Amino acid sequence: MNTIDPTPTVVIVGAGQAGATLAGLLRQEKFTGRVVLAGAESVPPYQRPPLSKKYDGDDYVQWLRPESFYADNDIELRLDDPVVRVDRAARTATTRSGVTLTYDTLVLATGASPRALPIPGADLSGVLALRTLGDAEELRTAVLAGSRLAIVGAGYVGLEVAAAARARGCDVTVIEREERVLARVASPELSRILTDSHRARGTRILIGAAVEELLGRDGRVCGIRLGDGREIDCDTVIVGIGAIPEDGLARSAGLECMAGIVVDNAARTSDPRILAIGDVTHRMHDGLGTLVRLESIPSATEQAKQAAAVITGTAIPPHEVPWFWSDQFDLKMKMAGVLAPGTEAVLRGDPGTGSCSVFHLDADGIPRTVETINAAADFMAGKKFIGNRTPLNRTALADIGTPLREVAQTPDHTPIAAGASTRTPRRI
Ligand SMILES: Cc1cc2nc3c(=O)[nH]c(=O)nc-3n(C[C@H](O)[C@H](O)[C@H](O)COP(=O)(O)OP(=O)(O)OC[C@H]3O[C@@H](n4cnc5c(N)ncnc54)[C@H](O)[C@@H]3O)c2cc1C
Repeated sequence: MNTIDPTPTVVIVGAGQAGATLAGLLRQEKFTGRVVLAGAESVPPYQRPPLSKKYDGDDYVQWLRPESFYADNDIELRLDDPVVRVDRAARTATTRSGVTLTYDTLVLATGASPRALPIPGADLSGVLALRTLGDAEELRTAVLAGSRLAIVGAGYVGLEVAAAARARGCDVTVIEREERVLARVASPELSRILTDSHRARGTRILIGAAVEELLGRDGRVCGIRLGDGREIDCDTVIVGIGAIPEDGLARSAGLECMAGIVVDNAARTSDPRILAIGDVTHRMHDGLGTLVRLESIPSATEQAKQAAAVITGTAIPPHEVPWFWSDQFDLKMKMAGVLAPGTEAVLRGDPGTGSCSVFHLDADGIPRTVETINAAADFMAGKKFIGNRTPLNRTALADIGTPLREVAQTPDHTPIAAGASTRTPRRI
């Protein structure tokens, strides 16, 4: 079944979430060969989610494993020395310092980098992006009570920073080119709820606003000029306009790439000796039947499990329903599935109470996506319904008084459970 036999040397390029998870899994699966984990950063693997969410003391620094883990598990962790070339014929990866690593299996786990803002002033000091621990340290010096922050891009990272900065007393303006926040990754319904939540807490959100120029004084950013001529004064600009897959190594090695390294449902690239995992991949997803680029911890972990199975010659795990989380203010959000066109949004719960879910059902009543806010039970049930393709009753779903297990058992054309409300679902 697998095209790669268990092999003695695995070189993992990229010591981030996906790479470090795979290294640990290989040892957990009793892989006895050599494991090299080669990273570009100067610090051991760490969690990125706290970088945009945690602002108390040093709580944003969360190592993936204790320092001793790598040596204890015979994982050769090489830091601060990026791989600069892959020679597929010789099966070698060469690092910037000139070290040549010979591999039997190479795993590319090089992640993604923040997309740069291609406008005048983007290189001024005080213009920051957020991907690494170093970026987060710099950002922390800017997020001080009374300072004025302008955030370009209303994606998850931008909104999380906005929430944290607002909670710390900053004056925050979010500027989004699209007509709503999270336009690429969330439904219009969730966008609306979040926009209202941020505005209610004093964040200015400008939508449909193109940033034309970053204005500077003495080499430091002091404002933003928009396409319509408006100017916004600020002390710091955070650019959060998405990430670009770090697929340069793969491209120069001639691997198939398409906005990321193309991999199948077992992390295999177009070279049977090379696997790729994490944000750098454009992956085949069996459950969705299409290629997708997922940028999330669950996706990186799922692909690390696939790669470990390929390397150790065990069964490839079944695909998982994609999911993601985000924390903004006191809103704990969890989303499962991928947004699909032509679905109907059904609201369960009242956004005004701080807890609600939006289910997106296809024409057969099968949920394709669920977006939840402070509604852990809805998330768990919704993710399961998506995975099992369980048709749901729209009317019962919109009724918070009807337990979710009954929602799954009462098709729309039959009467719903005695005692349950039959009011019309709210379309939002
Ligand atoms: C601020 C922030 C908040 C986030 N919050 C969430 C969240 O709440 N929930 C969630 O699910 N996901 C979140 N994510 C996304 C999540 O962190 C990523 O999906 C995940 O880190 C992807 O893992 P990865 O290993 O593919 O990439 P990374 O973790 O980025 O690791 C890639 C590593 O490869 C290194 N590298 C690149 N090129 C080379 C080379 N040539 N040689 C050696 N090393 C190289 C990089 O330096 C990097 O260390 C967040 C991301 C960010 C930036």
